This record gives sequence, structure tokens and C-alpha cells, in this order.
Amino acid sequence: MQHNDVLEGCAGGEAVESCDVLIVGAGFAGMYMLHLARRLGLSAVVVETASGVGGTWFWNRYPGARCDVESMQYSYSFSEELQQEWHWSERYASQPEILAYANYVAMKFDLLRDVKFNTRVMRAAFQEEESRWLVSTDQGTQYRAKWCVMATGCLSAAQTPNILGLETFKGGIYHTGNWPHEGVALSGQNVGVIGTGSSGIQVIPELAKQANHLYVFQRTPNFSIPARNRPMDADYENSWKKNYAERRALARSMPAGILSQFGDKSALAVSAEERRQEYERRWAAGGTSFMAAYPDLLRNAEANDTAAEFVREKIRQAVQDPMVAEPLVPVDHPIGAKRICADTNYFETFNRENVTLVDIRANPIRDISPGGVTAGSDFYELDSLVLATGFDAITGALNKIEIVGRQGLALTEKWRDGPKTFLGLMSTGFPNLFIVTGPGSPSVLTNVIVAIEDNVKWIAECIAYLIDVDAEYIEATASAEETWMEQVRKTAEGTLYIQAKSWYLGVNVPGKPAVFMPYVGGLPTYQKICDDVANEGYRGFSIGKRPN
Ligand SMILES: Cc1cc2nc3c(=O)[nH]c(=O)nc-3n(C[C@H](O)[C@H](O)[C@H](O)COP(=O)(O)OP(=O)(O)OC[C@H]3O[C@@H](n4cnc5c(N)ncnc54)[C@H](O)[C@@H]3O)c2cc1C
Repeated sequence: MQHNDVLEGCAGGEAVESCDVLIVGAGFAGMYMLHLARRLGLSAVVVETASGVGGTWFWNRYPGARCDVESMQYSYSFSEELQQEWHWSERYASQPEILAYANYVAMKFDLLRDVKFNTRVMRAAFQEEESRWLVSTDQGTQYRAKWCVMATGCLSAAQTPNILGLETFKGGIYHTGNWPHEGVALSGQNVGVIGTGSSGIQVIPELAKQANHLYVFQRTPNFSIPARNRPMDADYENSWKKNYAERRALARSMPAGILSQFGDKSALAVSAEERRQEYERRWAAGGTSFMAAYPDLLRNAEANDTAAEFVREKIRQAVQDPMVAEPLVPVDHPIGAKRICADTNYFETFNRENVTLVDIRANPIRDISPGGVTAGSDFYELDSLVLATGFDAITGALNKIEIVGRQGLALTEKWRDGPKTFLGLMSTGFPNLFIVTGPGSPSVLTNVIVAIEDNVKWIAECIAYLIDVDAEYIEATASAEETWMEQVRKTAEGTLYIQAKSWYLGVNVPGKPAVFMPYVGGLPTYQKICDDVANEGYRGFSIGKRPN
């Protein structure tokens, strides 16, 4: 099967490189996919826009960027040697450390020789006659591959807001999702930051330490739990390393693939005092497992409100000026229905004299001019502007590529009213095209590295099976896809997730159809369905020979 060095001529005179598997993206998904493809004896090429590996952790270099799943868990589990030899220095690793880890993995598994960096995939078109994907890049290179794996990431297409006059601003404009590698010197400057989601909540306390004055333009206040980040405790690390296999397995049995202590009673089945003690205990422990206190927090509005109210009180206590505290208190969505944040001194930052909260729901941004931002009737003179405005999540990076399937069908056209997949892994009409953590899979609702590992392993095993049975293609059937999308929709409707205007629904991107994209049924349920599908000879997929 090894034939990726074969260069063939093509109509336009450019060389076309052939390989078995073409992988788009060199984040944690693409790196692991390359590793497993090689293990199958396949030739594989990874194409990556960035100049290095790491994906999210390559791009999001803003001050304060770190994971909010504990590092002992937010890491690959596929290699016992790797997880034993790597040392995380903090409970929640910072971006530079996670990037160093990604580079270490790339060296350890000798991945770099098959990655084409600084190259963006522009188009991927299925060639029906030969059941091959022809993939074109912005460097003029082309690849012909039997299988194409989109490891393009759920949060990799940075979303810039459409604000009148943004392009006229004469100071620096920095998106947290595309932060300059050389860093940004903001000390002594008047800085504006737009956005108070996960990235905003991480960057704001750090910017406040540097800026002369920081103006935080907030449309939607968010719930956040103190991370209580700290240096890694040696005993804690050792206890993980001694029991890694067992703990990873246990984590995989939990809804988000994160080992947490789950409450088993309804929040409403205990007294108010017991509930308060439990929330206090979790608040003191820190981290997003706060939401694991009771199993009905994302199913029952009344139960949810007990947790929401607890956090609202904490915000009011943390922020000294009630006039500042009140707009920081989230009241328009259930806690956890938007991605819950973990912070270090976020709310306390608003007690600083050099920080001003600008409530742009009450006083919308009118425009941006060369010197600053006008919100309501006030003008804020700024030297730099930080956009913590998130991502065109889950489908953004895919939709930026012109993906053309059978009979000239464009993926963007098929997904015009919302993404359609079977298990998030494949979409009807696009044979041999796999998606890692695609829409319709649990993806962003989990420890994403676990979701990635499970998806990538499934894809690798599927490819191995196809080789075994000498198949030319695999394609999700229309009926399996329809049934799955219905299941994804119904599962979400049984929860409070759909009550928030979140990026899970795509509503942060103008014109994007409001469809709840992740599967909320939990990782173990999802993985069992994927395994059953495979064990039943890839039920719901048609596997065939090349059409004549
Ligand atoms: C600030 C931040 C913090 C996060 N924290 C956590 C956390 O604590 N826990 C958690 O579970 N998850 C977290 N995530 C989610 C994170 O994205 C995933 O955990 C994981 O890193 C995703 O890996 P990936 O390989 O799927 O995608 P990515 O890391 O996004 O990698 C995708 C790669 O594909 C490349 N690419 C995309 N399109 C193209 C193209 N057309 N051509 C070539 N290359 C392309 C991109 O450049 C990118 O390098 C966080 C995300 C962000 C943004």
C-alpha cells in the first residue's frame, strides 16, 4: 500500500502526490490519525496551515490560555510510555506547555516527516471514476488519496465580529484564536477586549495586569467557576501514573470522558442546606466538575437554578461594586448550557481601578473608528483591541474548504440548513471522507482528546476493515444519517442546552443555521453506538466496489 512518493502528472501539468490517507490538520486529531495510519502500513500525508503541530495550542497563544480539563486527563492515553514519561507542571497546563507536549509527541512518534506545514487545503473533490479524493492546496500542490480525514478541529475557524468601522481602527487588533507568536506588548496601553466567553474569561485578568486601562465590552455574561490552578502535586501525579489504565477506562465511562465525582441524586431530592454544602465543596475544589454535583443540572430547570443561583451569589460577593457586579451576573441562560468556564480571578479583576466593564447589551457598540470604540453614547479611546470573539465552531473549518462529493454535491450546499452526518463521522454523498469530532458527535461537550482518540481509532479500524474486504468505498446511507440526526436533535431537546444562545447552536455566526450540533447523549453511549455499528459490519454504511 505504500506509495506516497509516487508523483504523477496531471492535466494542469502539476505533480499529484498519491497516498493512501490524506489528513487535513495537525492538531491532536491529525497527529494521532497519522500515527494509526502508519501502524496500518498505509502511506499518509498531513496538510497543515500552521508552521507547526498542536492546532488549538499553536494558534491560541494569548496570555492566560490554558486547558480547563485537568492535564493528567487532557493528554493522549494511547501510549503508556508517553503518559508515564511526560510531566505536567500544573493542575491545568498553560498553552506553552501543551504546545511543548504536542511537539514532544511529534518527535517521539517521528510524525513531522509526513506533515506539509504552511499549506492550506482549499478543495477536496471526490473522483467518482476512481473512488479517490483529489485534494488541492494554496501552495499549488495536489494529493490523490483513497481516504481523506478531516482533522480540521471544532474550534479552529476564528470568528471576527462584523462591527462597523473595525477595519479603520489604527491600533493593533488581536484575535485570541490567532495570537501573534512574538507576543504583544500591551503594557501602558488602553486596551479594549470584546467578548467574555472562555477565552475572554482567561485573557481578561492577564490583560488587566499589563494595560494602563482595560475596557471589557461584554454582551453576554457567563458563568465561571474558579479553576484553583496550582503547581502539580507530586503525590497526585504519582497516583495517576500508577493507575493510569484504570482511571482512563473509568473516565471513558463518564458522560464527558472526564473522571469526576458524579452525584447520583437529583438536586431537588436533597435539602437546600445539603445542596449548598455540596456546591461550596465543589466551588472550593475548583474546576468545571462543579456541574457534576447532580445528574439533573442540565435536564431540569429548577435543579439548574439551584446551581445557577449559587454561582450568581458568588459573583455578587466577588465584585465589590454592586453596579458592576449586576451586569456580570448571568440571568439569560441555564448554567452549563453555554460552555462553562474555569477562571483565575476573573470576577475579582473587575475590582481593579484600571478595569471598566462596558455592558454592550445595554449600550451596543455603534462603531469603531481609528481612535477607539463608541458604545451607546460613550467613546472609549483605545490603543489596542483584543477580539475574544470565539469561533465559527464545529463546522467552520470544514465549510471553509470546498468539499465536493458525488455528482458535484458541495458539502456547504448539503449543510445549508445545518450539518448532516452519521455519527459525526461521515456524510452521505461523501464516500471515504471521515471527520474527526464532527457535528453529530459529542466533540466539544467532552474532554476532546478522549473524543478524538475514540473517533480516530474507529476510523483506523474502519479503514483496516475496508482493506480486509477489499472495498473501494464506504459511505453513510441516507436513512442512517437521517435517523442519527433525528436522534441528535431529540437528545438535545431533552436537555437545557437548547435554552442558551450558544456557539453549540451556531448563533454567534451571522447567517449560520441555528441547529444544535453536538450529540449530548454522552461519550459512553455514543461510543457504544459506534462500536455496535462497526461490529455489525458497519451497519448504516454502504460498502462497495467502484461503480462502473
Ligand atoms: C482556547 C481553547 C481552550 C481549549 N481548552 C480545552 C480543554 O481544556 N479541554 C478540551 O477538551 N478541549 C479544549 N479545547 C478544544 C480543543 O480545540 C481540543 O481539545 C483539541 O485541541 C482539538 O484538536 P483537533 O486536532 O481536533 O483540532 P485543532 O487543534 O483545532 O487542529 C486543527 C488543525 O487543522 C488545521 N486546519 C484547519 N483547516 C485547515 C485547512 N483547510 N488546511 C490545512 N489545515 C487546516 C488548523 O490549522 C489546526 O492546526 C480548547 C479550545 C480552545 C480554542
